[in-house]
Amino acid sequence: MLLNNVRRNFSSVVKNRLKYLSPSLKTFEAFDKPLVLERGEMQYLYDDKNNKYIDLLGNNLTVSVGHSHPKVVKAATDQMKKLSHCTTMYYHEEPASLAKELVERLPPHPSGDEWVVHFVNSGSEAVDLAAQMAMVYTGRPEMIGLHKGYHGLQGYAAGLTAIGKAEQPCYSSMFSSTSHVSPNNIEQLEDHLKYTTGGKVAGFIAEPLQGYGGIYSLKQGYLKEAFKLINDYGGVSIADEVQTGMCRTGESFFGFETQNNKAIPDMITMAKGLGNGVGLIGAVICRRPIAEAFTTKMFFNTYACNPVACAASRAVLKVIDEENIMENCKNMGNLFHTELSKLCLEMPEVYREIRGQGLFQGLEVAGSTLEKSGENAYELHRRLLKHGILLGRGSAAGNVFRIQPPMCIGHNDVLKVVEAIRSVGMQWKISNDKTSEKYEKYRPKKNIYAQMEDLLH
Ligand code: PMP
Repeated sequence: MLLNNVRRNFSSVVKNRLKYLSPSLKTFEAFDKPLVLERGEMQYLYDDKNNKYIDLLGNNLTVSVGHSHPKVVKAATDQMKKLSHCTTMYYHEEPASLAKELVERLPPHPSGDEWVVHFVNSGSEAVDLAAQMAMVYTGRPEMIGLHKGYHGLQGYAAGLTAIGKAEQPCYSSMFSSTSHVSPNNIEQLEDHLKYTTGGKVAGFIAEPLQGYGGIYSLKQGYLKEAFKLINDYGGVSIADEVQTGMCRTGESFFGFETQNNKAIPDMITMAKGLGNGVGLIGAVICRRPIAEAFTTKMFFNTYACNPVACAASRAVLKVIDEENIMENCKNMGNLFHTELSKLCLEMPEVYREIRGQGLFQGLEVAGSTLEKSGENAYELHRRLLKHGILLGRGSAAGNVFRIQPPMCIGHNDVLKVVEAIRSVGMQWKISNDKTSEKYEKYRPKKNIYAQMEDLLH
């Protein structure tokens, strides 16, 4: 009876999603066979059949301190009962206090300018607004990003994203004033400034540790030098902390502060984990004069400074301090790194490299070509699901397992994940599967509607 109910529920969720939700939601869909999730508890997720998974991607880094963390749930629901929204036409305590608490975590800006915060509703919106502010402040249109950078897929964020995978006719060409350079090459950046922008740049944006592009640290000192060069040419620097912020690197609250980067930007963008899954949160933090230049522009978004999202975010910041989250990122990150490095040595034909730091790491899957490694990663990813591991794949080829779980993940979970990765790798090695044939079999078909019947029976 229970099984029948579960089955009916699964069928109706899948049917309704495929029939009534737009197929345009398909980008990044993880599996060909749908996975219906029902609830989350700290680092774990549960599906409609009550199967438990370790969430190695924090539901796309939205969940920073744990699914349904009781302190965050309480803060958000208490606020929801009092006032669920307060337009920025009026003043409210939650956004004002959250802004103060974020600014208190920042180092002083070398210019002596104060930091101020503009809350928006998502990461793309934060990056889009930061680009607009940079353009208005400098009076120039040219924005520069890095190859393999991901900054969102709406507005100027779409133009600044350079993953090379976008299937619509080239996101970056949507904006003639956005361009990209290779990371870690200061000479190329300077040439680009001189010859592409004619020396007149509005701003430069970088993730302090590249995330969706494949988990790549920047070369030591690059970010600091790049920011200085941009300032020398009259532009502003932007650190996109949507993934690297909130202590995830295990070293500092923001990614630009790590020993590797030691840079201070003019502007910072945040989102995702700031709300621990309560959406409607994104932020641009910048030097006051940059924001002041923008006060003459008509810019408004209805849900900015939403008090429920801000109350949740304040609770997240408290949990980060009270539960030693940064320490946990460091310790669990080191454990992942040690164990996965061993695995790369043990089976280099399956796992090529482990990169990153803290709970911001990427395990690159091997393959005779880049495309092949993407196919191998797809198959291993699918097999890991059976071991109760949910993860995401990054890079344009989709060949990098992203290790970015809720930051409360524990010692035993890490060992369980490593064991599962070892086990699927070992099976893979032994069976020496013909990966491309397998991949073809499981590759999601073009028209998912045509598969609906198969999925339901
Ligand atoms: N910046 C970075 C670094 C991101 O990783 C993302 C999302 N993956 C964004 C911006 C865009 O955020 P959102 O999806 O909330 O628009």
